[in-house]
Amino acid sequence: MADSADTDVTAPISLGELAAMPVTRLKGVGDKKAKGLAKAEIENLFDLMTFYPRRYLDRTKERKIADMLEDEEATVLVEVKRSNSRRIRGGRVMVNVTVTDGESDLEITFFNQAWRERQLGVGRQAMLHGKLTVFRGKRQMANPVVDLVGNKTGRIIPVYPQSEKSGIHSWDLVEFVAEALRRSLPPVGRGLVDPLPMELLDRYDFVDRGAAMQGIHAPESMAEVSEARRRLVFEELFRMQVALVLRKRMMEATEVGLEHVADGPLVQRFRETLPFPLTGAQERSIAEIASDLQRPIPMHRLLQGDVGAGKTLVAVAAMLTAVDGGHQAALMAPTEVLAEQHAAGIRALLGDLSVPDVGTLMGERPLKIELLTNRTSTPERKRILSEMLLGQTDLVIGTHALIQDKVQFDSLGVVVIDEQHRFGVEQRAALREKTRGELLPDVLVMTATPIPRTAAMTVYGDLDVSVLDELPPGRTPIVTQWVQAAGSLEGDAPLELEAMWSEIREQVAEGRQVYIVCPLIGESEKMEVASAEETYERLSFVELEGLSLGLLHGRMDSDDKDATMQRFRDGDLDVLVATTVIEVGVDVPNATVMVILDADRFGIAQLHQLRGRVGRGVHQSTCWLVGEATTPDGESRLQALVDSTDGFELAEVDLDLRGEGSIMGERQKGRNDLRLASLRRDKEVVMQAREEAIKLIDANATLAELPELAAELELFLDEEDAEFLLKG
Ligand code: ADP
Ligand code: MG
Repeated sequence: MADSADTDVTAPISLGELAAMPVTRLKGVGDKKAKGLAKAEIENLFDLMTFYPRRYLDRTKERKIADMLEDEEATVLVEVKRSNSRRIRGGRVMVNVTVTDGESDLEITFFNQAWRERQLGVGRQAMLHGKLTVFRGKRQMANPVVDLVGNKTGRIIPVYPQSEKSGIHSWDLVEFVAEALRRSLPPVGRGLVDPLPMELLDRYDFVDRGAAMQGIHAPESMAEVSEARRRLVFEELFRMQVALVLRKRMMEATEVGLEHVADGPLVQRFRETLPFPLTGAQERSIAEIASDLQRPIPMHRLLQGDVGAGKTLVAVAAMLTAVDGGHQAALMAPTEVLAEQHAAGIRALLGDLSVPDVGTLMGERPLKIELLTNRTSTPERKRILSEMLLGQTDLVIGTHALIQDKVQFDSLGVVVIDEQHRFGVEQRAALREKTRGELLPDVLVMTATPIPRTAAMTVYGDLDVSVLDELPPGRTPIVTQWVQAAGSLEGDAPLELEAMWSEIREQVAEGRQVYIVCPLIGESEKMEVASAEETYERLSFVELEGLSLGLLHGRMDSDDKDATMQRFRDGDLDVLVATTVIEVGVDVPNATVMVILDADRFGIAQLHQLRGRVGRGVHQSTCWLVGEATTPDGESRLQALVDSTDGFELAEVDLDLRGEGSIMGERQKGRNDLRLASLRRDKEVVMQAREEAIKLIDANATLAELPELAAELELFLDEEDAEFLLKG
């Protein structure tokens, strides 16, 4: 009964086999449905089985129409008898549908949802959920939730995500999945491979994969759904963690890096010149990094810290350690503005340091710091590149320009990536390769804003983590106020806004400075949103007349920008009206007021970053959020900022509101996506999965004893990673 040479017809089916089986081979999937499935990115049986229901209808909770009470919310299963639509006043459309549960009728109305007439054609079966009203003796429901279920008899009906576009309905999926399961699971099929070690299945009391698939797609009870989900969520997170831990261990086993000497003369002089003591958290992070730097295994470390926690100093200490040993260091930032600000800041910090140089009369030369971005002129770039290659440059700060073809260091010792989730693993690796030296440099990744622990474990799970959880002393907490008003400042200003401007004028009278941030640069036709140019004009003539105002945005050329920034730093400007170019890096301790116009247009992390531009000196600082929260999420965001100044806490709120998509970004692509697990709901499972993954890899360094798990990982990894992690 041979099928093909290399398929064992008695062995259970692996995910790889499912992925190789096109959905078109399933009974009932014709050309048209296959196209729809392809639109939903369901090409094979693996895609199909991991396309999970969005929710479930519990038929045990179903009511008969005649039993429903007035004003009660309930679910009924009905068939459509008639439907029609008509225009009503104001050009709106009303759709009327008469449905029956076989015993009594119910009148349904939808307002402004013309498509309901098509959706609820005569004879269609649907579950309706809504509130019953009685009008002139007739039972009615307005705008109920509708689930088209088809002719279903099960007690629990899964509802799949569906879109009008694909033409695939939830009941199609129920049917296709049922067929896929029938062919895969006994008695007809060979069963599914279970990649989880037996010991784990026992200890966590997990159902096996076959039962989990059955339980999530075709459950007999909601308890079955939750057992299935518990196992599948763990499996997803575990697979991801195994890959991350494996990558980390492989790097440690295969890579050879420089052995730096910690606390050399430059680092010591740098510490001595600091006008303040380092915080405990800075000391701890510097020590953690120093210990990594001394080992021959290259460092892969993430530095997490809130705005203003002092990450730059920690990074500088690491970079100087490389220079102390005669090597070079690089700092890569995601934008030109950021790179320029880092360069200015670090030059100011290190301006007076010098390095030993036997070739000069004094036996030393000034520490050499260069800035390399796409704005660097060609001759300048030529000079910098040749000096880098000769080892005459110590620190290079730049953007993506640092990983372009021609760039090469003589001996790159430490790489710092200020990342803001914008660089991928590949770019991290690319910068590391930019050395002529044989030994690999150490890598420090800094996040611009903190992300929650569980998210860090998932997104940066191949890195060690240092946390700056302490702000430098002497900072007075920033008071945040939310003014519900339009940021465009048009129309009648509420009293609160008047009060804000008058408080701002008082602050300026006391010598303090003010930032005013707008979402846009110039006027926009479509939206009534504050633009920096218009706001600047208006404030100069109205609210802040007589004060000295400056304007800063990304369309100005760099000389103008630099000049404006310098005037603000020097205190020549009272007020700086700007776009988010000032988001990161700007540091003017005398600025004590931050006004963010149309604040509801920004995300939590960005608002927190902007707010972090004040509260840097000895004076009490205030942040005003001006905006009309038009959505519940907008309101929650602004309220969160009012309630907390802790970046780690805000990161949790952000994750709750926005989901993981924002954090995962470019780093997790394709099949790595979590389909069922959620970094918000499943925080504890993330930790468990990591713990178990570490235990597993420490006991089975090559996964040789777990060939099924190894085979699955290969399916989820891109080629290069698979090669490195599993065959290396
Ligand atoms: P981050 O990058 O973490 O947001 P920065 O490195 O820009 O923070 O530091 C914010 C400000 O705090 C800078 O002005 C810096 O000089 C100052 N600073 C850093 N560490 C300390 C410290 N230990 N004591 C006092 N001020 C500090
Ligand atoms: Mg910084």
